[in-house]
Amino acid sequence: MNSGNKILAVFGSTGSIGCSTLEVVRRHPEHFTVRYLTGNSNAALLVEQIREFRPAAVAVSDPAARAQVAAEVGQLTEVLDGPDALADIAARDDYDTMVSSLVGFAGLLPTVTAIRAGKTIALANKETLVVAGEIITALTRTHGTPLLPIDSEHSAIQQCIVGEPAHGVARIILTASGGPFRGWTTEALQAVTPAQALRHPNWSMGSKITIDSATMMNKGLEVIEARWLFDVDPSRIDVVVHPQSIIHSMVEFTDGSVKAQLGVPDMKIPIHYALTYPDRLAADYDRLDITRIGTLTFEEPDSDAFPCLRLAYDALRAGGTAPACLNAANEVAVAAFLRRDIAFPRIAALIEESLTHVPQHSVTSIDDIVEADRATRAWAETHIMQTDFQPTTRIHT
Ligand code: NAD
Ligand code: MG
Repeated sequence: MNSGNKILAVFGSTGSIGCSTLEVVRRHPEHFTVRYLTGNSNAALLVEQIREFRPAAVAVSDPAARAQVAAEVGQLTEVLDGPDALADIAARDDYDTMVSSLVGFAGLLPTVTAIRAGKTIALANKETLVVAGEIITALTRTHGTPLLPIDSEHSAIQQCIVGEPAHGVARIILTASGGPFRGWTTEALQAVTPAQALRHPNWSMGSKITIDSATMMNKGLEVIEARWLFDVDPSRIDVVVHPQSIIHSMVEFTDGSVKAQLGVPDMKIPIHYALTYPDRLAADYDRLDITRIGTLTFEEPDSDAFPCLRLAYDALRAGGTAPACLNAANEVAVAAFLRRDIAFPRIAALIEESLTHVPQHSVTSIDDIVEADRATRAWAETHIMQTDFQPTTRIHT
């Protein structure tokens, strides 16, 4: 099968996933055309990308960066202005695949617009499915839009279940590296710095997801992502720590057979798979040398030192606005940790407090999600420094 020439809109092209996506395009120019790019504050990189890929238009969210881009390459491309620029590009009719690789809640509304416009979504922005999984999956069914995961674990699961009947899937086993603080005690985690937390052992990624990996919240978000992508009950999604990050995830089938997908930790491979699915387009990314790796190990996650994973399961089971609340509190807490305003364990504490104190509701629309995100951020921003909190109530599961 030939993948044809896919016309891409790369949202967040200046980020880690955005740059890896453009590298996949560079290696396969006969298969991909870049029509739109978007960035935030890294004007210099966006200018380089515009010179190389000649997109029809770009959206630049940060006003100073937008002015710089317009001044330097305004004659080469349309530089869109204002808060609706991302939605404007997402709704255009002359591209077919959105690479959704903004970070955080900012990715939700452009992705919704692209789904409503009938685009194929190559999804890196897991937060979209975390905050609004039920609505998003319903929308993709209504509009007939494929939702193809870029996240390496979910790409692995998809590769394991291709050709399998849905009733054959017994359990999804997500692998986690354990991050830079695997094996650390709660006490030792009090003193960790952003610089230490940003040093991921296996993957080079944007700062928000790198902190999420250090707290294990990334795996919590991925449990929620898997629940919606593969329509599996949370009780059938397990997490196992696998420090080598070679097995990207596994699926256990109802007959006891287990399939795993392996590879070197390189996001270009799952991006390539999402952009060429259901084809297998040959590529020359680094190959896995399993004898050089030698040993693969597995262990249980430590939910005492890393409570974020449990909080994510709790929020998923509680449903309604709870996952959006979890996500918003996490974004506020991670930003505060990166500013050195709070200690590392305070991230999980603030999320737990937010889930307990911000009123949770059922969800019927994207507007409900936007409001839950706003209300949680407001609460979390005003309570972030309070460290003597003792939770009295819990979300019931
Ligand atoms: P990043 O921080 O490197 O890049 C984020 C991109 O979004 C940048 O282009 C930035 O300009 C843009 N952006 C940020 N805030 C914005 C805003 N408010 N408005 C408009 N644009 C904004 O992040 P990343 O590591 O590439 O991650 C992107 C997404 O992919 C995240 O959801 C992450 O969880 C997911 N993901 C990343 C990896 C990885 O290896 N980096 C792996 C799996 C999943
Ligand atoms: Mg992942």
